[in-house]
Amino acid sequence: MRILQHRTFSGGVHPPQNKLTARLPIEDIVPPPMVVIPLQQHLGAPAEPVCQVGDMVKIGDKIGEAKGFVSVPCHASVSGTVKAVEPRLHPLGGKVLSVVIENDGKGEVSPSLVPDDGYLERSPDELRSRIREAGLAGMGGAAFPTHVKLSPPANKPIDTLIINGAECEPYLTSDHRLMLEHPREILAGVQVIVKILGCKRCFIAIEDNKPDAIETMRRAVAEGGYPYQVLPFRAKYPQGAEKQLIKAATGREVPRGGLPMDVGCLVHNVGTAKAIYEAVALRKPLVERVVTVTGAGVRSPKNLRVPLGTPFAHLFAQCGGLSEDAGKIIMGGPMMGIAQFSDEVPVIKGTSGVVVLSKAESKVPAPHPCIGCARCVDACPMKLVPTHIQTLVRHERFGMAKTYGLLDCIECGCCGFVCPAGIPFVHLMKYGKMKVYQLERAAGAKSA
Ligand code: SF4
Ligand code: SF4
Repeated sequence: MRILQHRTFSGGVHPPQNKLTARLPIEDIVPPPMVVIPLQQHLGAPAEPVCQVGDMVKIGDKIGEAKGFVSVPCHASVSGTVKAVEPRLHPLGGKVLSVVIENDGKGEVSPSLVPDDGYLERSPDELRSRIREAGLAGMGGAAFPTHVKLSPPANKPIDTLIINGAECEPYLTSDHRLMLEHPREILAGVQVIVKILGCKRCFIAIEDNKPDAIETMRRAVAEGGYPYQVLPFRAKYPQGAEKQLIKAATGREVPRGGLPMDVGCLVHNVGTAKAIYEAVALRKPLVERVVTVTGAGVRSPKNLRVPLGTPFAHLFAQCGGLSEDAGKIIMGGPMMGIAQFSDEVPVIKGTSGVVVLSKAESKVPAPHPCIGCARCVDACPMKLVPTHIQTLVRHERFGMAKTYGLLDCIECGCCGFVCPAGIPFVHLMKYGKMKVYQLERAAGAKSA
């Protein structure tokens, strides 16, 4: 018998997959009566409002202008009337200046959305400019402006593009469904990225728990005559993290504190690839995305195509509401997602899923002292010693924690998942990093 050894990385964990919605096709949501579109949905400088209360807008009209290179514009996701431009609750915490649009239900589209059949004839600079104007930011969750990622410096040529269809987070299935239902659009987007970067090879990375997606993408690659390779990876969390994906696909190791471009690689999510095609060929800004709404606390889990700015409460209403057992609401998956304190927060560009855990699943056990079992060390995909770093952070020895790799922590939660003492690692790592950055800023200000 031939045993297939799919690619993987060292460390990692195997949480229950709970992919409840893997077989459910994407449904168009009934548009909400009101959307709340934050002007900060990406890493970098927030957009500045270019609309006023009372303005009539159509789908795709620009409502926020990018401020600086590391920034992207925002666009109306429904047609209607601007009711407010004011700070509103944001799923990443606090309040952020947002544009509130009352939906007129007409679904009118901006006249600026004129398709361009000749998009592959455009120059790399023109393509990058269209991607920026469309407001694209990474849709895998990190939301880094896409045009910036597609502008590596001349001394860092990219020879390998990796399209990330791993979707290793439990529960989430939006990327899986995109690969099954939109393989041609994804590959058309990949073609644009390859043209911009001029890279030699492209891998499409998919975990082996999605054999139908591997098969669909392989068929679409063959039918389109693309020179891309669909690679199956062993299902293990966090296979979809950039550095782990690069190591498993190419054998290259991104250096400590480095970026994928340091080893000639670039990673883009499958959803971003599809959005790139829409931006350059259809001239369609990023105004909607697929969101998996799932978990034991949701009555009828679904994959929904949703206008950006849709409040979570509207998602739940479309899924039959929350069950009486609903506990914690998380934006993203349960391993790296962000707990929410309100269902008023809106879907943003990086919202791949909304998971509602049951009350029992939401309970956080009280932590105990470390018993020195080293399970966290075995699980860490970054080859750190998490128990040591968390001890240094607890003792406020932030400089030493940095020396031991605190800033290399990708906050994947593997250490906390295996720790029998219930130590809240990710919380401590985030706190430690915040203190390191604060101290470095203060030291910089003093020496200036
Ligand atoms: S959260 Fe950080 S320290 Fe813990 S396993 Fe992940 S990378 Fe390692
Ligand atoms: S897994 Fe938990 S108990 Fe074990 S060494 Fe790490 S911190 Fe200590």
